[in-house]
Amino acid sequence: MIRITQLKLSINHTPEELSQKIRKELRLKNEGFTYEIVKQSLDCRHKEDKKFVYTVDVSLQDINQENKILRKVHDNNIMSTKKKEYIFPSPGEEELKYPPVIVGSGPAGIFCAWYLARAGYRPLVLERGEEAHIRQKTVENFWKNGILDPDSNVQFGEGGAGTFSDGKLNTLVKDPSGRNHEVLKRFVQAGAPSEIIYQQKPHLGTDVLVGVVETLRHEIEEMGGEFQFRSKVTDLFFENSQLKEIEINGEKRIPAQVCVLAVGHSARDSFSMFEKKGIYMEPKSFAVGVRMEHPQSMINLALYGEEENEKLGAAAYKVTHTCENGRGVYSFCMCPGGYVVNASSEPEMLAVNGMSYQARDSRNANSALIVSVTPADFPEEGPLGGVAFQRSLERAAWKAGNGKVPAQLFEDYQNHKPSTRLKDVEPCIKGDCVPGDVRSIFPKEIGDSIEEGVLAFGKKIKGFDRPDAVLSGVESRTSSPVRIVRDKDSLEANYEGIYPCGEGAGYAGGITSAAMDGIKVAEAVSKKFRNF
Ligand code: FAD
Repeated sequence: MIRITQLKLSINHTPEELSQKIRKELRLKNEGFTYEIVKQSLDCRHKEDKKFVYTVDVSLQDINQENKILRKVHDNNIMSTKKKEYIFPSPGEEELKYPPVIVGSGPAGIFCAWYLARAGYRPLVLERGEEAHIRQKTVENFWKNGILDPDSNVQFGEGGAGTFSDGKLNTLVKDPSGRNHEVLKRFVQAGAPSEIIYQQKPHLGTDVLVGVVETLRHEIEEMGGEFQFRSKVTDLFFENSQLKEIEINGEKRIPAQVCVLAVGHSARDSFSMFEKKGIYMEPKSFAVGVRMEHPQSMINLALYGEEENEKLGAAAYKVTHTCENGRGVYSFCMCPGGYVVNASSEPEMLAVNGMSYQARDSRNANSALIVSVTPADFPEEGPLGGVAFQRSLERAAWKAGNGKVPAQLFEDYQNHKPSTRLKDVEPCIKGDCVPGDVRSIFPKEIGDSIEEGVLAFGKKIKGFDRPDAVLSGVESRTSSPVRIVRDKDSLEANYEGIYPCGEGAGYAGGITSAAMDGIKVAEAVSKKFRNF
């Protein structure tokens, strides 16, 4: 196969024009070929002449011609390449008496279960929340009437935290093993659009994700796996440092040899249980801040040079700044054409996040603007110091909005003045919101860092620091506040049979990387145990 990189075409090009460009680059005459797009990115540096930039793999009908063509074109952007297939390891030797148990059906749990099920391990997935389509109603009810279900909400339930999300699928994790491609391929086979395989910033709206997640569950069930919803793991029992039993809902115990802890970063009660049981955990740095909303047309104008572009959809940005106090402030989980969501999971505590539908067509762009925090900021020492810090901010946010999401104009935030009304930027929000004092949620240094960041970003994106931009809070669930320590080879914790996995355990930071870690843990289980 021949790989061509840096193929640039106008954003309005047709498939035929891409094919012609390939023919031209390879100096082909009548030779037949097929091609596969490996990557598509967008180059907006020249706003009047925006381009898609492609990497493609070309297969010539006569493969014997490939070397001849490579010699003829002699171009650094054209090279020989081989397709690399992902290989799941063969089963190990140890006898497995019970199906492996996976705690949590977020991306990490689902992908771990999928690969174990395909390899014949018949995994059992225990999920504290509801199945996706029922959970959807519970969440909508919460947004409408404020009644929170602490076990089935934006953080908990089938599909995990990613189900009500912007579904960004890009990851910075390096992927020599091909797990990233596997994840995207599985999503496509479960109903996601095929472009996600090659887009630079692939995304799946929440309306698509619900169906995709349920399809993946059906596939796992067909391969011999089992799911139990409303089934919270409440205790773990060990003998001679080996897992023996798992307790569900404080009532029932089941025997187990393998337990994958894919509980996500919001399972605070589970983290406490792990700590009590002596599972090694460490506090971890993360970041906290606000959601900031601007009109999407303003962001489009700044990035595309036009307020709307049907071909390109809503524009996305990424901004970073190092504050004078040394802290990093940056945009995170930007949701073009999205919604701010009340993403709380504990009573009388309030956390926000961002979500979008596949069309990304709301009138606002929103993004988390967050400031890095370390264990030195936490009010308590020990592994759960970060959880205590998150909780203190979430309590303050709940108080600031009296149970509703507090929102503040940037001009009021700068003047340390609670907002009494909002102006031209009308929030696009799921859940009730009320004008208030968002700045009061934060310790001074963090509040100041956010202000400094917004002013710096105003120099990069025109209008970013406009007085009527809306800040809401608190964005506290950016990544896990703990790491559950695991052996780098066996991937087990300090107890045999316990496999920390995904974002909650501190080994991932988003949907795709959590899913990839799920596959990695499935591989580790397979390397050790025989299947049934
Ligand atoms: P989770 O998805 O958190 O899943 C953990 C699961 O475990 C949950 O379903 C929970 O109910 C279950 N569980 C917890 N404790 C127990 C227990 N004791 N017993 C049984 N079950 C339990 N990431 C992106 O990459 N792109 C985005 O656009 C994006 N947007 C987001 C928007 C929102 C609103 C939120 C909340 C998150 C977003 N994220 C996004 C983050 C992403 O969702 C997470 O990184 C990802 O879901 C982590 O996967 P996970 O499987 O490790 O954990």
